[in-house]
Amino acid sequence: MAEKQDITMDKIVSLCKRRGFVFPGSEIYGGLANSWDFGPYGTELKNNIKQYWWKTFVHGRDDMIGLDSAIIMNPKVWEASGHLENFQDPMVECKNCHERFRADIVDLSASCEKCGERRGFTDFKQFNLLFRTHIGPTEETSSIAYLRPETAQGIFINFDNIVNTTRKKLPFGVAQIGKAFRNEITPGNFIFRIREFEQMEIEYFFNPKKENWEEKFEMWLESFKKWMNDIGVDSKKLYFHDIEKEELAHYSKKTIDVEFDFPFGKKELFGLAYRGDFDLKNHKISYTDPETQEKFIPHVIEPSLGVDRMMLAVLVSAYTEEKTEDDIRTVLKIDKKLAPIKVAVFPLMKNKPELVEKAKDIFDKLKIDFMCEFDDNGNVGKRYRRQDEIGTPYCVTVDFESLEDGAVTVRDRDTMKQERIKISELQNYFKNNLQ
Ligand code: ATP
Repeated sequence: MAEKQDITMDKIVSLCKRRGFVFPGSEIYGGLANSWDFGPYGTELKNNIKQYWWKTFVHGRDDMIGLDSAIIMNPKVWEASGHLENFQDPMVECKNCHERFRADIVDLSASCEKCGERRGFTDFKQFNLLFRTHIGPTEETSSIAYLRPETAQGIFINFDNIVNTTRKKLPFGVAQIGKAFRNEITPGNFIFRIREFEQMEIEYFFNPKKENWEEKFEMWLESFKKWMNDIGVDSKKLYFHDIEKEELAHYSKKTIDVEFDFPFGKKELFGLAYRGDFDLKNHKISYTDPETQEKFIPHVIEPSLGVDRMMLAVLVSAYTEEKTEDDIRTVLKIDKKLAPIKVAVFPLMKNKPELVEKAKDIFDKLKIDFMCEFDDNGNVGKRYRRQDEIGTPYCVTVDFESLEDGAVTVRDRDTMKQERIKISELQNYFKNNLQ
């Protein structure tokens, strides 16, 4: 088996392209730097991550509800939240090639990463990461709007609507999944830092006089540790970085950056922050306790995840190279519930109508309950290898014997073991094994 340090970004990027997980964006027009399109299998994988998050944290709890708010909001939202003034990164420019870098990330004493020269960098200036656009046909100052840089503010500004329509009482949380946009100075590392990405965010509201925030914080941290374990994120690569007091945002009493050991280094995977009453206060929103009539501003704990970063962590955790008798097998040992395709169905040979017909029949029945793929291209060995790289847990092959004994060969992705299963039993077999 490959040592984990053998897993390079080149291997992950190449597999993603080769197998239809992630394509370079706008490729036929020469591409667009740091933009990526999710291919058929990447889309399935991303959807499965989002669905399992929603299932766990919204449907699986009685104190959570969901929301889907707008991407373009009244600019006053960003004024109140502080993004217009403060959502900026310090930027420097290489004096030789004029490439721009984030001053807090680049080594200012070293040579330029782009041109290799050592002519130094300019003094830093603040650069606002908000993406600007205009609403309507005129490009005047009054029509300026912004693409949201996070989904969270959509939750805060709907707090009253949510309380009034759902009858939720504190403590409760609101979850949202959706696109966010940041005009990053230095995007890169594949889908790790992009300008258009997806977030899965929760704002968990509570009464600071009734609830112990440390307990709630711990509860969310534990819930996310379990969730990551459930989707196969390698726990040996996870680090929980408790941000030191001096480095905390002024409104936060505690923030943990959850880091993952990516092939390009240990970097933030997601954040968990106790944000006090900062956000609701900015929007002048309060809550009245229905029992005591006490009016106050709820406090909030925010687990904020990036879908794309989580997908990259899942891919890095699952990527495996195994030595076989004659070569190296690349296999994505991805958790079964995340696998883009659950079962691949093959006729042994493409030019034998009776095999193809039987295989199509099995495919049609299985696809009602499981995400399936039919494949009759090339030899079965090659088809297995392709499915291994996509991470498909099971392959079903219909051969000549199947026509006699009503059974098929089921091959397991991880062990490569093959067993004969009656066609009439297949549905049950997969129901039991794909839990
Ligand atoms: P970083 O320090 O890496 O820029 P951040 O601390 O600004 O991240 P947050 O504002 O806390 O990030 O956003 C929450 C999460 O959203 C991040 O932990 C990450 O998973 C995801 N995220 C943020 N920016 C990007 C991006 N440019 N590309 C992909 N995912 C992102």
